[in-house]
Amino acid sequence: PQPLPASSAPEVENFVGRDEELKLLKGSSPVVAVFGIAGIGKSSLVARAFDDAFWYSMDGSESLEYIAWRMALHLNMKGFPELIEYLRAGGRDTKSIKGLILEGIEETRSVIVFEDVHKCTDGEIESFLRFLSSRVERGKLVLISREKPRVDYERVLFIHLRGLKVEESHRLLSLRIPGITPEEAVRLHHLTLGHPLLLALAAEARGVAGDRTSLFEYLLGEIYEKLDERERLVLQVLALFDEPVELSALKRMTYGSAFLVLYSLLNKGLVERKGESYYLHDLLRAFIREISEVDEKSHYREYISYLLEKNTARDFLTAFKYAIRLGDEEMIADITELRIRRLWRVALDFPTAYMRLLRKVEDSPYAKKEMARLYFNRGFFERALGLWHKALEDIEGDFHRFDVLMMLVDVHCEMGNIELAEGTLSELEGIFRSHKDDPYIKLGYYIELTKVRTFKREREKALEGAFKELEAVRSYPEPYPELEALILYHIGYLYVELGELQRALTYYREGLETAKAYSLPFMMNLGYLQMGIVQYYLRNFNEATGNAGKAAEYFLGVRNYRRALDALFRLTVSLMGLGEYGKAENQAKKMAEITQSTNYPLGWTAYLLIGILRELRGEDGEQYLETGLEKLRENDYLCRGFFEELTVLFDEKDVN
Ligand code: ADP
Repeated sequence: PQPLPASSAPEVENFVGRDEELKLLKGSSPVVAVFGIAGIGKSSLVARAFDDAFWYSMDGSESLEYIAWRMALHLNMKGFPELIEYLRAGGRDTKSIKGLILEGIEETRSVIVFEDVHKCTDGEIESFLRFLSSRVERGKLVLISREKPRVDYERVLFIHLRGLKVEESHRLLSLRIPGITPEEAVRLHHLTLGHPLLLALAAEARGVAGDRTSLFEYLLGEIYEKLDERERLVLQVLALFDEPVELSALKRMTYGSAFLVLYSLLNKGLVERKGESYYLHDLLRAFIREISEVDEKSHYREYISYLLEKNTARDFLTAFKYAIRLGDEEMIADITELRIRRLWRVALDFPTAYMRLLRKVEDSPYAKKEMARLYFNRGFFERALGLWHKALEDIEGDFHRFDVLMMLVDVHCEMGNIELAEGTLSELEGIFRSHKDDPYIKLGYYIELTKVRTFKREREKALEGAFKELEAVRSYPEPYPELEALILYHIGYLYVELGELQRALTYYREGLETAKAYSLPFMMNLGYLQMGIVQYYLRNFNEATGNAGKAAEYFLGVRNYRRALDALFRLTVSLMGLGEYGKAENQAKKMAEITQSTNYPLGWTAYLLIGILRELRGEDGEQYLETGLEKLRENDYLCRGFFEELTVLFDEKDVN
């Protein structure tokens, strides 16, 4: 969902030496860990060795799903779309994600760099890194850390990076102080132990008097004294942020001509650059923050508004982090409202990262309701309910109130409490009546109205609601094609329930067109599957086979086994309709295979299907029929549904 930054590796200019380390890095070892103290040159070294690597800097706030999305974009660009397809289809299984990442790295022979691994606090990511480091063979994995990373010691090549050699220090200094005497260079080398960042600062300060005690502060103090106002401001503003800041954001927070200031800071070795973004080395940041005089809050506000304008899930998460630092309840209310209105993907794609941020402000009722939504999405209804009720006591403003009530209708429906759902719906209606111009409230109201009516099996009324919903989504200020397709499918489904199959097909087709127009593979295949079902009922077995086949292939590919079984079932019975018994049996066998590992009940019908197919071909299918019936004995509902589906193929009496 978000574009990849142009380059996230640090830029390396005036790089000197490190020949042996470069050779080791680029050598045959598939996993390399570079470790050493801050500023010793780890990142520069790795960036120098690999210029088209995937580069990820850890900051302690990431979650596996977050990293997975970033890697998915990279791997997709390199010709491996499987991971991004999987994630876009809603796949969230950690094991599959890890497997797909590994497959992608190997297939595209990517170089993957994780920087600042020592900042990682997430157990799942640590185990992911151990997993990769024990398996990557054809691609390359590089870990950069201040501490020796805890990974497979047998397989990993460790490079403990230390200071530059004396001749390398000399070269580095000569680039910055042309004509420096060898004696002075040697003196500075010994003083700094060849630490490149300190050498650069020493060069900037034009040498050092005195000894090594708090050399760093001394050097910075010397340099800082000589900076002009603008340089100081840009440094202080940059020091407020943990991650690289884009030039355009900096311009907004400092000067229109910030680039020129940055250019001079870059030359002085005080600022580092990654693509279009600038940052301070960790060592410098701490120092500058101590002497900083800028007003943090106003800069955070400016930065937050900058990020939110970009309208991506990633920038939202960063903005949220700074909203937390502001500690301003109103800001949390505003920013979560914006998330609900425009950035629904945050909750779907980055639930762990978002949850981690929300926990830091869990006293805020607005954070509570967001947490509740994340719990709800994961199926923890009771927990969600508790939080929503608590939030309701404190939130202000109709928008947030409406949002909670909307979710309550959902929970009540899911939990089968139709009366409660209806009660809440009438509260929603009250708010809706006084905010008819608010596109979110309008859409939300019709969504819930349709849902309640569907749950009550009031099909005609539900249809009316669904058409209102469709109108509301189409006039929503942002395109919301996933929802639009979903509504069209829901309309189709309601027509199926009403027995109007041709009408149903029309709406399924329209939903499919919407999904196609926005390249939404998951929604497209959902469309194929549903069309397959209707075509089967209409006994258009040819078309049903084609559509169900497409859907089956896709859902198998993205490892969504529940839907894959739906599609395979439809494919099998459609093939039976065509009299293709052999092919049908092959598909049924695929179902059986999936069921053995996933235990989805629908899969057990595969045994019945195989049994029936054998009998149809005059073979003995009894064994299969028995197994199938045995497995389904407890599941009356499914069993009845199964035989009902078969009446399309056979007369009722045959089935009995
Ligand atoms: P680390 O990743 O170990 O914290 P960096 O790679 O960020 O260190 O390096 C710190 C600073 O020293 C950077 O400004 C970088 O440009 C400079 N530097 C590091 N190694 C070299 C080198 N081999 N030649 C020239 N400059 C270097």
